[in-house]
Amino acid sequence: TNKLKLVKKIIIAIDGLSSTGKSTLAKQIAKQLNYIYVDSGAMYRAVALYALQKKLIIGEEFNKLKMIEALPSVKVSFVYNKKLNISDVYLNDVKVNKAIRSMEVSNVVSVVAAIPQVRQQLVKLQQQMGIKKGVVMDGRDIGSVVFPNADLKLYMTANAGTRAKRRYDELLTSNSNLSLQEVLDNINLRDHLDSTRKDSPLLKSNDAIEFDNSQLSKEQQLEQIMELVNSCLDS
Ligand code: C5P
Repeated sequence: TNKLKLVKKIIIAIDGLSSTGKSTLAKQIAKQLNYIYVDSGAMYRAVALYALQKKLIIGEEFNKLKMIEALPSVKVSFVYNKKLNISDVYLNDVKVNKAIRSMEVSNVVSVVAAIPQVRQQLVKLQQQMGIKKGVVMDGRDIGSVVFPNADLKLYMTANAGTRAKRRYDELLTSNSNLSLQEVLDNINLRDHLDSTRKDSPLLKSNDAIEFDNSQLSKEQQLEQIMELVNSCLDS
């Protein structure tokens, strides 16, 4: 019944390669349902920022041992920003929303994210955020590792042309002087590392629904996905 639908809360896991529209979709769903949206990639980016700040990564050299030793003093958290209706990302009590989007961070994040001890720490936090359900989380291993029992698992895909266009648009809005080639190289590198790493590689779980949004507007995508969400809430 309608009443039950209002109280039932579910976990929605959204995975996929970069530039497949995961975060846009996750935010839209969270808004519709009044759920919490968790950007798990932001957490890996915050740890990567820490590694850069502490000079654990210099050029090609990454002191993984020091990274692992430092993990107990790396605190990543989200604080809800009422004014902007978004969650701010904090690294040890400093707001890092902007810093984690830099090219420096993008260039090293997948190497940092491949360290099992880093993943263990962040997955634990992510699972805590799902305890009360009512969460939409996007990432690479959400349906496979973080919430293997998620009520709805989506695996987003889009064709290469569409993804390239999205990257290009991303580039235009980032108002920096990055070249498109730089952005393309970075995303291809991350997709490769994320798909081939040993611990929790990006993969489509058997029970995930593959959703190709190449031909859909954001509105059309949301409409189709909300049908899936509503049938989950009704069941
Ligand atoms: O989502 P976003 O592209 O910002 O994520 C940045 C990086 O963080 C990914 O390329 C990946 O290396 C890592 N990541 C991960 N597992 C997740 C989310 C992100 O390994 N669940």
